[in-house]
Amino acid sequence: MLDNISFIKNDEGEYAVPCQLKISENCVQSGEFCDDEEDAKDWVEEDFWIFSGEGWICPRCNEQIYVNMAKIKPKHMR
Ligand SMILES: [Zn+2]
Repeated sequence: MLDNISFIKNDEGEYAVPCQLKISENCVQSGEFCDDEEDAKDWVEEDFWIFSGEGWICPRCNEQIYVNMAKIKPKHMR
């Protein structure tokens, strides 16, 4: 499972899960840095991040997806 997720590593050798989208102005960019990958993944799960199948999306960007969708109107509405 963990093989599918790309982590980022800081200078202290700690891991964090990056936000996959980074489309929101308020995007947190990444989860908290933890001692290992498992803890980093647990952190984002507890922070209500959404797993897309390819990566994790922070709650701010997840919200932004719905905002963007609301802006797209069907063609016949123009
Ligand atoms: Zn984000």
